[in-house]
This record gives sequence, structure tokens and C-alpha cells, in this order.
Amino acid sequence: MGKYYSIAIDGPAGAGKSTIAKRLAGELGFQYVDTGAIYRTVGYFYDLVGIGPKDADGIHRLINEFVIEVVYDQADGSQHMLLNELDVTEDIRTPEISQIASQIAANPEVRELLLDMQRDVAKKYNVVMDGRDIGTVVLPKADVKIFLTASAEVRARRRYEELQRKGAKDSYEKVLKDLEQRDYQDSHRAVAPLKRAKDAVLVDSSQLDIDGVVAAIRRIAAEKLGV
Ligand code: C5P
Repeated sequence: MGKYYSIAIDGPAGAGKSTIAKRLAGELGFQYVDTGAIYRTVGYFYDLVGIGPKDADGIHRLINEFVIEVVYDQADGSQHMLLNELDVTEDIRTPEISQIASQIAANPEVRELLLDMQRDVAKKYNVVMDGRDIGTVVLPKADVKIFLTASAEVRARRRYEELQRKGAKDSYEKVLKDLEQRDYQDSHRAVAPLKRAKDAVLVDSSQLDIDGVVAAIRRIAAEKLGV
């Protein structure tokens, strides 16, 4: 088996990781892996069965009672999340599930469960994987590591506009507050907190558009991988 390349993109909520990673993967012919979607699916499951994200005993009790699969559409490469064989890809993208996912992601048992699932994908494909701990924990030997960030206001504005397009009614202030709360939780948890890996290149997207960020990361990838 040949070696597969991996590009890790970590950073706070709303930095543009998924948009950028998707574009980059498309241009390089790599598989895009959205690891946040996996945490969201776990959060969605526990929410459905009425177990709170901080209820460690309840989480432990049901940890083997659900099956999560990450599948890729053959036609367009898009990632779909299956929970007990049901496609929940759209259901997990609500502000409520964002908060639940962030709380449940602090649970060590949940993180342990998802670790191999993420690593297994990187053993089968060239990947652009986005998340919070990809460069630090999931793929510490990733060929390219990017820490993508932007000011909280810029990130909240982007997220707010995205929600508006979907018809959501949340105010900008609420979106900003939710995002800051999630950043705080994600950076302060004991296990695999959000932080920049020592060897990650910092890219600040506050002043760049999507093309600019993709071009910047492609230059870094070209230097390291020759792709
Ligand atoms: O990236 P996204 O906003 O969809 O992620 C949802 C939540 O999942 C994050 O707020 C974070 O708590 C958690 N997460 C994580 N580690 C990852 C990816 C996401 O803890 N690698």
C-alpha cells in the first residue's frame, strides 16, 4: 500500500475551514473529511435519546448502542453521515446541535471512540481533514498542518450570513455569543483542546476571501508535497 497524503486544517468555529478544505480537496483530488460532522452526529444521537451532553454516565451506558458511518457520494465526493443507517447529514447542522456537539466533544470516551474512525479514513485516501485536534492528536504526522483562524467578529458575521441564507432567524449577537462560547469550551477542555500544533502554519482569513486562502494553502502544500 502506498503512502497517502494528509492535510490537516484546524481552527475555531466559523474560520471557513469546511469551505476552504472542500475547495482544496476538490482542486487536489483529495478526499475532504469533515470531522466536526462526526461529533455532531454523536451529539444528535444523544439528544434524540434524551441524554444530556454532560451526562457522562448516560453517555457511557449507550456508547455501544449506535452505529455511525462516514460515507462519500461517488458522484460529487460529498460526505454523508449515517446514524444507525439513516442519513442525518442535514439534521446535524443546527445551532442547537453545534452547542451539543461542542459539549459532548469534551467527553473523553466519545473522543476515544471517534479517533480510529478518523484515522482509518486517512489510511485509505489522500485527505484534507478539518477539525480542532487533527494536527495535534488525530494525525500528528500530517504532511501539511494549517491553523486557520479569523477574528471572532468576522467569523460570526460569516456564520450569521450562512444561517440567514438557510432561513434561520438568529440575531448576529446570538451567533457571536454562541461562537465565543463554543471556542471557549473547545479550547479549555482537558482532552485534545483546540490549539495550534507547533508545526502548523497560521493562516488568518480575516482579510482574505476564499480564493486568497485556498491559494495561500496551496502554496504551502506545493512546497511540502509538490502537489
Ligand atoms: O467543525 P464543527 O463546528 O462542525 O464542529 C462541531 C464541534 O465538534 C466543535 O465545536 C468541537 O467541539 C467538536 N470537534 C472536535 N474535534 C474535531 C472536530 C470537531 O472537538 N476534530
